[in-house]
Amino acid sequence: MIDVIVIGAGPAGVVAALRAADLGAATALITRDEFGGMAANDGPVPVRTLAHAARLMREARHLANYGIVVSEPHLDYPRLLERVNEVVHDARSHSTFRAQIDSAGVRVYERAGFARFVDPHTIETESGLRLQANKFILCTGGKSRRLSVPGSEWTATHSDAWSLKSVPDSMLVIGAGATGVQVASIFNAFGSRIQLFQSGPRILPTEDADVSAAFAEAFREAGIMVHENFGVIESFEKTQNGIRMLYSNEGKKNSAEASLAVIAVGWVADTGNLNLEIAGIQTNQRGFLQVDEYLQTTAAHVFAAGDVTGRLMLVPQAIQDGFIAATNAIKGRTLPLEKQVSPIGSFTDPEYAQVGLTEAKARETHDVLVATVRFDSTTRTIIDGRTTGFCKLIADRPTRTILGCHVVGERAVEITQVVAIAMASGMRVDDLARIPLSYPTYAGILGRLAATLTRQLNLQGNWQVNEQS
Ligand SMILES: Cc1cc2nc3c(=O)[nH]c(=O)nc-3n(C[C@H](O)[C@H](O)[C@H](O)COP(=O)(O)OP(=O)(O)OC[C@H]3O[C@@H](n4cnc5c(N)ncnc54)[C@H](O)[C@@H]3O)c2cc1C
Repeated sequence: MIDVIVIGAGPAGVVAALRAADLGAATALITRDEFGGMAANDGPVPVRTLAHAARLMREARHLANYGIVVSEPHLDYPRLLERVNEVVHDARSHSTFRAQIDSAGVRVYERAGFARFVDPHTIETESGLRLQANKFILCTGGKSRRLSVPGSEWTATHSDAWSLKSVPDSMLVIGAGATGVQVASIFNAFGSRIQLFQSGPRILPTEDADVSAAFAEAFREAGIMVHENFGVIESFEKTQNGIRMLYSNEGKKNSAEASLAVIAVGWVADTGNLNLEIAGIQTNQRGFLQVDEYLQTTAAHVFAAGDVTGRLMLVPQAIQDGFIAATNAIKGRTLPLEKQVSPIGSFTDPEYAQVGLTEAKARETHDVLVATVRFDSTTRTIIDGRTTGFCKLIADRPTRTILGCHVVGERAVEITQVVAIAMASGMRVDDLARIPLSYPTYAGILGRLAATLTRQLNLQGNWQVNEQS
């Protein structure tokens, strides 16, 4: 019998299978579709490629500011989709994981269709495969939540971008979390007229309040119509040129029309096909697999990793989960999850990113120091003509450690990586202020912020080195 079957070959499943095999377990990896999962085929890799094209369109429009004369850029969307396919294949063929998995002796079953339990130790796949194992690691990821209002079958998700023949003239984007703002940003750069609808009072609701406000302002300046607190969707109906959304707000009926409506209202676990009850596996209130700190499910022989557990739904976390789940499945409950510094960001225009606590959360539990630098006041952003945005650094006054960083603007995601490393190593703001970061750079803005916070602390030191950025 196989020791462990891993279901789902996204980042969590691939690393779980590799770790299990490295620990000497006879391992099989089964996946419905292609190796790499949603991450490689429908998530970050292809979406980043669209985002890169959007960035090139924007860059091209800046050329005249630097005396470079070219004609107005024009997007060939079918050609862009070909490029997306090339990138996906290229990234997959250069994946070191695939080579490692093969040399570790993992039996890989790709394009097997959905796998489901037929008894606690046996699974069957749609392709007719039937396998038994002592242990299982479920890494089946998630999928877009769909709305259940009349006419929702006419709406699309981010995945439908791959089957469009051209850029829609106009788009309703419902939901202004990470996926919604990404879709809005990309298709706005491609020339769609975008209306973005958020049911709550602010877009990007899990970000620092200043990030939400600056981001909404930047979106509006870029021509996106942002509707916060828009109300409740009642239905969708097909029109001659696209789709109409009917909604109401405090009893007042309203409607919005566009060529396409994209729903981005959350991410749910992809467990519907697994037949979980047969194996005694329970889900939590949010519908994700219930796991403990060892990533063990309610069935002792079944572990889970990645988006299907509903924790931070990102590739690096899925990879770490896969390693932890496989270690515990093979060696026993030895490796608990750790609380970690987790930078999060998105490649929109403008970019935004965060690490650590928001200012509001930090103030609830700490005596804080806060400094903000606007991007219209730093040398590098002025040189590059990227003056929209700001960077905010939050520190704990008594310990001088960094509690959080929030950025809107160019290279926001890269800036927060530097802060994440500083936070993970327990670096204090005055330590950061003493590092002569390169000038003029985006990361160098952190030096100026750290120097400002150090000055607020009234410490002696050579923080002046970073006064300029
Ligand atoms: C638009 C978008 C952009 C994103 N951008 C980023 C980003 O920039 N950075 C980042 O870190 N994260 C990003 N993410 C999130 C990231 O893609 C996920 O966190 C990551 O893919 C989770 O990995 P996973 O292994 O848990 O699941 P997945 O990658 O979803 O893989 C799960 C696999 O299991 C298969 N499967 C499902 N059910 C079964 C079954 N019953 N039998 C067999 N196989 C099954 C699925 O088909 C899939 O191949 C993005 C997500 C989206 C949607």
